[in-house]
Order: sequence, then structure tokens, then C-alpha cells
Amino acid sequence: MPFHPLSVVRFAPIDALNPLLDDALLVVDPQAWFAARTRLAANPRSLVRAESLDEAVLQSIEHAPDAWAGIKRVIGLGGGTAIDTAKYLAWRKSLPLILIPSALTVDAPFTDSAAVRRAGRIHYTGRVFPDAIYVDAALVQTAPAPLNRGGVGDLLSIHTALHDWQLAHERTGEPYDAAIAEQSAALLERLRQHAPDIYAVNETGVRVLTELFCEEVYLCYQAGSSRPEEGSEHHILYTLEHQTGRAYLHGAAVTLCALIAAYLQRNRPDDLRALADACGVEYRALLNEVGAEALLHALVAAREYALEEQLPYTFLMETPLTPQAARGALEWVQS
Ligand SMILES: [Zn+2]
Repeated sequence: MPFHPLSVVRFAPIDALNPLLDDALLVVDPQAWFAARTRLAANPRSLVRAESLDEAVLQSIEHAPDAWAGIKRVIGLGGGTAIDTAKYLAWRKSLPLILIPSALTVDAPFTDSAAVRRAGRIHYTGRVFPDAIYVDAALVQTAPAPLNRGGVGDLLSIHTALHDWQLAHERTGEPYDAAIAEQSAALLERLRQHAPDIYAVNETGVRVLTELFCEEVYLCYQAGSSRPEEGSEHHILYTLEHQTGRAYLHGAAVTLCALIAAYLQRNRPDDLRALADACGVEYRALLNEVGAEALLHALVAAREYALEEQLPYTFLMETPLTPQAARGALEWVQS
């Protein structure tokens, strides 16, 4: 049986971790640490600030001589960067791992590998399983609401990823599991039912989002790939980040790319946009930040990037995207 991340999730206050801080290396996002400090009585043995997933940065922490004396576990506290840094370090050092997402911005706390950036491109480490994942609603609610709402991006991507998966099956004969695809689509339905809770970032919203992330990750384990939730929308984002050398707020960025991909796939884009809006994802603000030209550039280049990186088959491979088609999709998103 694959590992089910929900089996290690504890919906509990983080003060339960106080006895474990004495011999822990705590990897934090500064803002999350600021919010969590009022809830933790003890100090960690070692405190590391997560700044970047660049492999050179991660290795410098790994090889820091004084950081590791007496350390028996790694605890990651924060958003994606702190979580992935903690996972990387626990993996390299073969130490037990505890994760405390301070906002539900990405599915990273629930997946079994860590993202690492090498020469501007995302790679994944070997498998790393946490002993526990603490989801403390009071802590999560201290993060800005748009961050938590944006977390649904890695669920909205199911909409476009499933389309790509089926297409890949038809075109290349890649194995496709209809039962898994159906369960994955059901997660989107559950998200739709709870969109008001997600928007409100209330306790139910925090719990539902956590459970949906866990279920989605578990479906990926069962499928033996990330097909149930990752396709062209992520590939477009990877292209964009590679081209601009920047990392964007993942949830909002994936949402933006999923909307564009759904439009280009002719795959009920209006339904997806209604759901993104109901959850309050600020993808329009992100589009302003990225700039239409940069996004256009990435859209046209995404096919080439996916081929170069040998990414799984998606609708991007079908025919090269013309600048006109890309522009049409952008106009629709902005409308
Ligand atoms: Zn993602």
C-alpha cells in the first residue's frame, strides 16, 4: 500500500511540539516563525531561515558545521520554501521529519519528495516521508487569506491535468486509469462544494483543503505519476519561471496557467474560472505582476521547453501554439 499522507496529519495545536524542539533543527520562513513563536514555549536547538530552493543554498546548510551538533530531527515550519528545505535536509541527513505548514499554499507538505532548483530548473529528490504533519488552523489563519485561498491552484490543476492524461493515452498509448481519474475529478467537486469555506479560510476550509491535498497526492502515488494533478498548466509555469528566472506564488500561478490551458484545450474554461473565483484565487493580480508579454512568450515556448525537459505528453505537444492563439487565451483570462 502506498503511504497515505493523511495518516500522519494531526489537526492539532503546535504546542504539542514543544518537547521535541530541544534537539531539533527548525527550518522556518521568518513570517511563520514570528506567528508561531507566540504558540511555542521552547526554543529549537538550531534555527535556519529558508530562503531559496537553490541546491547550492541547500547544500550550504547541509554542510554548515555548527548547525547539526546534537540534532536528532528536522522540523519545517512555513510555506513551500521552508517545507521543501526541511524535506531536503531530512532526506540528506536521514533524520526524522516533522512538517508544520503555516499556510496551505501548495501541496508540498503532503508529497513524498522535495523540490530543488538546479540551474533554474526544478528537480525532485528521492522519497522522504514525515513522521507527522501538524495542521494548526489557528496558525494557518495568521497567514494572509489570499495565500491560503491560492492553495487551491494545485487542485484546480486537476481539471487540465486529467485532460492531458487522457489525451496522452489516446495519442501515445500511455496507461490511463479511469478509476483514478474519476476520483481525482471528484476532489474538484468536493472543492466546489466547500468553496465558501476555502474563501473564508475557516476551520472547515483548512481541514478540507488539507484532506484534498492528501487525497490528491495519494491518487498520484496510486497512479505512479503526477498525472492526476499535473499537466500542461504546470509545464507552462515551469517554462515561465525558467524564462524569467523568478519563482511566483505557486497556487495563484498554477491557477492562472490552468485557466489558460483549459481555454486552449477547449476544456470548460468558464467552469474552472468560476471555481477559481469562488475560492478567491488572485490570479488576475498575478497576471499583472508577471506581465502579459512574459506570459505570452512562455506560452509560445512551452512546447519546446516540455520537449527539451522530456516532460509527459500534454496538449502542448499537439501543434505548436501560435502567438495569436496564445493572445486569445490571455484576452479571455483578462476579460
Ligand atoms: Zn504544483
